[in-house]
Order: sequence, then structure tokens, then C-alpha cells
Amino acid sequence: MTATLIDGKAFAAVIREKVATHVARIKEAQGVTPGLAVVLVGDDPASEVYVRSKGKQTVEAGMNSFEHKLPVDTTQEALLELIETLNADQSVHGILVQLPLPEHLDESLVINAIDPAKDVDGFHISNVGLLATGQKSMVPCTPLGCVMMLRDQLGDLSGKDAVVIGRSNIVGKPMAQLLLRESCTVTIAHSRTKDLPEVVKRADIVVAAVGRANFVQGDWIKPGATVIDVGINRIPAPERGEGKSRLVGDVDFAAAKEVAGAITPVPGGVGPMTIACLLANTLTACCRAHGLAEPDGLT
Ligand code: NAP
Repeated sequence: MTATLIDGKAFAAVIREKVATHVARIKEAQGVTPGLAVVLVGDDPASEVYVRSKGKQTVEAGMNSFEHKLPVDTTQEALLELIETLNADQSVHGILVQLPLPEHLDESLVINAIDPAKDVDGFHISNVGLLATGQKSMVPCTPLGCVMMLRDQLGDLSGKDAVVIGRSNIVGKPMAQLLLRESCTVTIAHSRTKDLPEVVKRADIVVAAVGRANFVQGDWIKPGATVIDVGINRIPAPERGEGKSRLVGDVDFAAAKEVAGAITPVPGGVGPMTIACLLANTLTACCRAHGLAEPDGLT
């Protein structure tokens, strides 16, 4: 069997288009422009690339982008003060603090200082609790993108056996909550899970969020299963020239695509969906703040 390729790049373009159309509509009808503030502390090159890309796509969707670049030695007090200012700013509907933060800053304290209604990353403890109790919340972007792709690929997910490999707060745990919300039977696997291949073999849906290159083997996959590969791992690629590297996922793609029914590639799968969902969350936050109808299919 050769799996259907789930094209996250194309799907993300559809989501961005949907966001842009709705943004244009509320600008026209209500005179409201959604605004996203992104805060970057320090000069980590990967974070700078992400922040630039987020800013560019925010503007392309017709929204306001506010970038706050702070020096690496920014104090906790100064960062909290900025967040307080952004919380109070009515033109800002979404606030994202780019992680990881420099070590001297307390990540939990900073994230929990964000107004939960503007927490477009969905990491605030209130949003985590709301999601866990099945209430309306801001949902973390990467798992939201994964569940959108699954719904698009499979339709109704209820009753499906889903295995999430990884239990991080940013991917694994919220992913499991979202699959539960879709009425899947959910197993969360992690580094202490016994006989992981057997656990994965039972799954109709496999979400890999491990952070280990090509970790999930093809013969772990149940024939016909849908595989979502969240991993982004850089490995040496001498075939591309000396010192070159390439990105691979957490799943051995070449082997898994011969067994799975559908699979996301890396790159071009989950990655592009993450920023598209950030834009969707910003629009959702704006609609909620102004009591406007939320667009369908973006939460
Ligand atoms: P993380 O915080 O390091 O969590 C990794 C999880 O994998 C942990 O729960 C860990 O278990 C589990 N794990 C590690 N080794 C394992 C093993 N041998 N068997 C089973 N489970 C094992 O990573 P993360 O932040 O969730 O990210 C995971 C991957 O997704 C990374 O490659 C990251 O770059 C990528 N990512 C991609 C996007 C995107 O937009 N596409 C967004 C976020 C993250 P324990 O808890 O027991 O240690």
C-alpha cells in the first residue's frame, strides 16, 4: 500500500485564505482589525525565523502585527510589564511569547501573566483547564492543526483508536485532549511505555511528537492507519554536500508510507499548519472579544 500524502502546506493555505476572508469581512462590517503581538526575548536564530514568518503571515491575512524584540538580558519585571501593557491594549487580540525564553526568565510565570482570552498559544493554565474539562478555550496551535488535518482526512473521528506518542504540555497532552474531544479512544505513550510497537500497532490514528529522528518504524503501523508526524529533527545530509543537513520527522517516512493509509510528510505536513492555526486563533480571540460570530471549522 502507498499512503495518501496529507499535504499540510496546501491545507494551511486554505486555512489562511479562510482567515483572510473572515478578517476582511469583519473589517468591512464592524471596523475591527484583529491584532497579534509577538514577543521575542534574545536573538536565538531559529526563534527569529519563526517570529519573522509569523509577522509576515499575520499581515498577509489582513491583520495587524506587533513585534516586540527585547534584549537577552531583559528582566522578568520588564517582560511582565510589557505583557500587562499588551493585555490592556484593545488593538491586541492575541499575545504570543516566543519560547524558549532565556534561562533567567520563569516561563510559567510569564505565560500565566497573559490574559487567557488573548493567549493564542493556548498555554495559559486557564486554557489548559478549560480544554481538559471540555469547555471553550484557546487551543494550542500545533495540536489544533493536527486535529484539523485528521478531520479533513477521516471525517468523523469518534470511536477511533488513537495513540499519541509524547506527553509534553505543548503537543502531546493537548493533542490527547483534542482527540478525546473528538470521541477517540486515546492512549498517551511516553518514554516509560512498555512495548511501544505493540501499542502503536493497535492505533487507527498515530500522532508522533517525540523529537527523535525516524523513531517510529514502519512495521509498528497498523495497515491503513493515519499517521501524523509532528517531529522536526535536523539530521546530517552528506548527499547534499559537505556539512549539509535536512529535516526529518519522528516517523520513518519511507517505511511507514508503505503501510499507512495516510501520512503527513516532514517538512510540509504539521509545520505549516501551526502558523495557520495561530492566525485562526487570533481571529477567534478577536471575534470573542467583540462578541462576533466565530468562523466555522477554525477551533
Ligand atoms: P518534548 O517536550 O521533548 O517531549 C517529547 C516526548 O516524547 C516526551 O513526552 C517523552 O517522554 C517522549 N519520548 C521521548 N523518548 C521516547 C521514547 N523512546 N519512547 C516513547 N516516548 C518518548 O518534545 P515536544 O516539544 O512535544 O516536541 C516533539 C517534537 O515535535 C519535536 O521534534 C519538536 O521539534 C516537534 N514540534 C513540532 C512543531 C510543529 O509545528 N510541527 C511544534 C512543536 C513541536 P517522557 O515524557 O517520558 O520524557
